[in-house]
Amino acid sequence: MPVSVPPGPRSRATRALSLASSVLFLTAACAASPGTPSGSDPTAAPPLPGPEDGAGSPGGGAPGGDDGGSGGVGPLDTRVVVIDPGHNGGNASAADEINEMVPAGPNQKACDTVGTETASGYAEHEFNWSLSVLVRERLEADGATVILTREDNEGVGPCIDERAGIGNEAEADAAVSLHADGGPESGRGFHVIMPGEVSGFTDDIVEPSRLLAEDVHSAYLEGSGVPRADYLADEGMDERTDLGGLNMSDVPKVFLETGNMRNTEDAALMEDPEWRERAADAIAHGLAVYLMRQ
Ligand SMILES: [Zn+2]
Repeated sequence: MPVSVPPGPRSRATRALSLASSVLFLTAACAASPGTPSGSDPTAAPPLPGPEDGAGSPGGGAPGGDDGGSGGVGPLDTRVVVIDPGHNGGNASAADEINEMVPAGPNQKACDTVGTETASGYAEHEFNWSLSVLVRERLEADGATVILTREDNEGVGPCIDERAGIGNEAEADAAVSLHADGGPESGRGFHVIMPGEVSGFTDDIVEPSRLLAEDVHSAYLEGSGVPRADYLADEGMDERTDLGGLNMSDVPKVFLETGNMRNTEDAALMEDPEWRERAADAIAHGLAVYLMRQ
């Protein structure tokens, strides 16, 4: 279901104007003032010693290659979006592969991590995959070309630098990495992570990524029913300089931590298929608002 643009026979220009009003509204509604880096890394496990060569591609198929829609008719028909479903279903049984060190900016980090899960055992990788497919459906319905960084939820990786590389190769207009956090049980809510300044790496994407973060933040806050995180970040916005998936990106990119899987209230939403549809609506809308700025 197209969610980002009103249906009907109106011209693209009219649609764009309509969405422009929405952009103004959403921007005004976003009171976030990002800043304070948090100490926790929602996606990372402590890097383990590994081989020097981080270029090895873990099994898991050829991510991105044939996942991309060809782009259709709609207001986003010239836009390319990369959606990165965090982690992968096979990571837990492939420690050697995912612990390989790969470029993550000035430093190296582990290729990938396993992710978290709810108390009942609903895995983050499965949630990320499910949500990403729903977001893809919505953006494709508006004409966008959408590329996922993995083909299914059965493989391993790809490594964080490869995930970023898929967006670079596609020259994506926007990229978003979808995750769920494994925070303290007492804390709930979502946060958006945008790249901070890392000289030689993120200089070219800091500004547009901030705009992307604001659009995703506003739409998700309004549409998902999940509050801003109360246990980290700043009003649901965070800036990080340590995430390879951001540092290695040459296209505007953010991470969305959609909620805290260790929190009972957030977990109940994430385990609800109907809520995932609602969350996907909100994420697709935020991306569409950003893409219509271009
Ligand atoms: Zn994650």
